[in-house]
Amino acid sequence: MAAHIPATRQEWHDRAVNYPFEPRLFIDGELVDAIDGGRFESVNPATGDTIATLAEGNEKDVERAVAAARRAFEAGVWSRIAPRMRMDILLKFADLVEGRAVDFALLDSLEMGKPVSSMMGFDVPSAVANLRFAAEAIDKMEGAVTNTHPDVLHYILRQPLGVVSLIVPWNYPMMMAAWKLGPALAMGNCVIVKPAQQSSMSAVLLARLFAEAGGPAGVFSAVPGSGAVAGQALARHMDVDKIGFTGSAPVGGLMMRYAGESNLKHVTTECGGKSPQVVLADCDLDTAVEMAVHGVYSNQGEVCAAGSRIMVEEPIVDTFLERFQARTVALYAPGDPLDPATSMGPLVDERQHRTVSGYVEAGKAEGARLAFGGGVPAGMEGGYYLEPTLFADVRNDMKIAAEEIFGPVGAVLPIRDMEEGIVLANDSIFGLGASVWTKDLARAHRFARDVESGMVWVNTYFDQDPTAPWGGVKQSGNGRDKCMEALSHYSQTKSVWMSLGG
Ligand code: NAD
Repeated sequence: MAAHIPATRQEWHDRAVNYPFEPRLFIDGELVDAIDGGRFESVNPATGDTIATLAEGNEKDVERAVAAARRAFEAGVWSRIAPRMRMDILLKFADLVEGRAVDFALLDSLEMGKPVSSMMGFDVPSAVANLRFAAEAIDKMEGAVTNTHPDVLHYILRQPLGVVSLIVPWNYPMMMAAWKLGPALAMGNCVIVKPAQQSSMSAVLLARLFAEAGGPAGVFSAVPGSGAVAGQALARHMDVDKIGFTGSAPVGGLMMRYAGESNLKHVTTECGGKSPQVVLADCDLDTAVEMAVHGVYSNQGEVCAAGSRIMVEEPIVDTFLERFQARTVALYAPGDPLDPATSMGPLVDERQHRTVSGYVEAGKAEGARLAFGGGVPAGMEGGYYLEPTLFADVRNDMKIAAEEIFGPVGAVLPIRDMEEGIVLANDSIFGLGASVWTKDLARAHRFARDVESGMVWVNTYFDQDPTAPWGGVKQSGNGRDKCMEALSHYSQTKSVWMSLGG
């Protein structure tokens, strides 16, 4: 029987009251308390109230999870079963995740403030689609026989890496984990997920559902805990073969350092951005405005690929600003994340609220013009809310144009033409997403060729699909989530030589 989906704010709140929050870690196929009894509070950013007190993993719990993963890997209960058996379990896992969409929506929404409508409409479907994509790809990954020499049979095996740790952020908690879990598990690795402390519970639910789907013990553990302790213990561990990291660029840098100082484990990073949207005068302005608004404010602006540097050709700047404000008011009113009508929730926590508010002050101090927003919405002082905010007359060297804000703050920069847009777009330490808005096909192709970015959108923004690589260049990271390339990131080749000589 299909699960009932709450239809109203009241129904979502009824679901949240007395919800059986699971406070334990999931290690080696079972729910366990932290060995040292560590605990931390999970706080609802919409209200500031404590949701639950959760087990906090430390080095000892990491040790336990890594040992279980290694045991499972060596035993071959996952890595050496028939690929189609892995596929069956992963497909069943995806079905179970889909069936628990309401639970995931509730957990991530309560913990990090994302509207339930976003969870039901995007995060959960994307997580499920990517799990299915990876599962279906399992028996499409092939080795090779190479043309080496007549007296030699040389072939290439593609094999799992071993024990993989996935360290993920809070902005798309279950979805980010799923994007990495799919390829890591599909390729036969044993996995330990370390969620961000602001949003831990959905990772534990994912691990429980994998076990329910028939996943063997030790293959998928979830160890909530702080980055500095549990995260660092995983990244420095001598028996972890890879870190699949999504998070900020500075912490991505730490992952590489920890790997270098330990066992040279593989590290792939998916980090932040300051993605440009270049709006040219010949574009369909209404569509450009609509998508630019989503590009800046969806998920409260807490999106790695947020299109927060909006470059607009000079003749249309005033019209753009006018329409942008009107559409923002219509589309993004901050509200209760558990109300299905809400499109913008609070920021994830008090610290993030302080950081983002600090950027608003920096924008004013540097001489940018505050076009709208910048304050706490009236009546919402109990949570970590911020109004959708836009600065105009921004220069690319200002802090608000150079740094990732990770909140609902956009910056509009006037440009003379597309060429100047490309120069400014590339004058950034980041290179995750970029868009151009124009009806001129040749200009669009030139932009796509010349902009330094892992993803380019032409007359659209944020489109994605399991088949399309997701990742960046420069300090936006070196990894690619989704797509067949992600499966390569979680496997390695082995070169086998057989002499046929007499
Ligand atoms: P963060 O870098 O603070 O934390 C990410 C993860 O790393 C968390 O699990 C955290 O606990 C852990 N961590 C923190 N310090 C650590 C340490 N010293 N050792 C080991 N682990 C540590 O990032 P965040 O605030 O959780 O997430 C926001 C960032 O994530 C933004 O920069 C955003 O752009 C980025 N992000 C990127 C993508 C992408 O696909 N490129 C997607 C989502 C988010």
